Amino acid sequence: MANIGFIGLGNMGLPMALNLLKAGHAVAGNDVMPKGMEALAAAGGKAAKSLAAAAQSEIVVTMLPAGQQVREVYLGANGILAQAKKGTLFIDSSTIDVETARAVAAEAEKRGMPMIDAPVSGGVVGAQGATLTFMVGGPAPAFEKAKPILEKMGKTIVHAGGAGAGQAAKICNNMILGVSMIAVSEAFVLAEKLGLDKQKLFDISSKSSGQCWSMTSYCPVPGPVPASPANRDYQAGFTAAMMLKDLKLAQAAAKSAGAKTALGAEAAAIYDRYVGAGEGGRDFSGIIRFIRGG
Ligand code: NAD
Repeated sequence: MANIGFIGLGNMGLPMALNLLKAGHAVAGNDVMPKGMEALAAAGGKAAKSLAAAAQSEIVVTMLPAGQQVREVYLGANGILAQAKKGTLFIDSSTIDVETARAVAAEAEKRGMPMIDAPVSGGVVGAQGATLTFMVGGPAPAFEKAKPILEKMGKTIVHAGGAGAGQAAKICNNMILGVSMIAVSEAFVLAEKLGLDKQKLFDISSKSSGQCWSMTSYCPVPGPVPASPANRDYQAGFTAAMMLKDLKLAQAAAKSAGAKTALGAEAAAIYDRYVGAGEGGRDFSGIIRFIRGG
């Protein structure tokens, strides 16, 4: 069993760290807020009071809000790259920009510390149930070493390519998701206006060429898919603010790579207006109410 440092014990990080504990690993967790560390300690882990304390482990996992925090935690003067021993394996599961992922991995490599980017999909439910999908970028030996650890937190682990490839996969996937949720929502709103029953549209489209995850697993109208957030007033789930964050990351990447993503750009603009209307904490499928009203 491994000694693992875990930095960022929020909505996703805490349940992921608890699953590592459950699997028998020793976990030392750090966060700028005490709540997550207290919960980890109560479950048999250790509260690491500083980044340095969490970095004294053979493997360090980070689950932070955005690229800025990842740069601070890894590259800061008191950051983990400055504090860890040579050979430490770093796993960053935060969703961040490809550029930061590559810059931090290059710096880690320079110091003799292998690193992978391993963002996830599956949300808080996936984090709790250890059913996350990990999309991994980085060198093959680091991936092989990380795999048994990731398997304790997730169900599907895919090596997507070199450094940054995990983040690239994540933002491409979520651009599809943002666009498809808007498309499915527009279809239901149009159906309402045409007098077509929502269950009928679902019965037909879920078996026809309009079929997609936003329709069949996360349907934005109440009724057809009982587990979807539409049945509980669009309580998140995956918030509109997080969707906006990922759509903006996709737009930044598209701009720097010279890719044309007209629908991705429009989806980012629509979610930006939805979040601007004070709905950032609502589930992202709540966009249907905005489309219906706007
Ligand atoms: P969160 O805000 O709940 O957790 C982030 C944690 O990091 C917080 O506890 C915060 O205090 C801590 N933190 C911030 N700066 C820190 C620092 N300098 N040092 C130590 N700790 C610090 O966010 P979350 O929902 O857990 O998401 C984490 C990451 O996972 C994000 O990048 C997000 O985009 C991604 N993600 C989230 C979901 C989801 O459904 N919540 C799904 C997929 C991916």
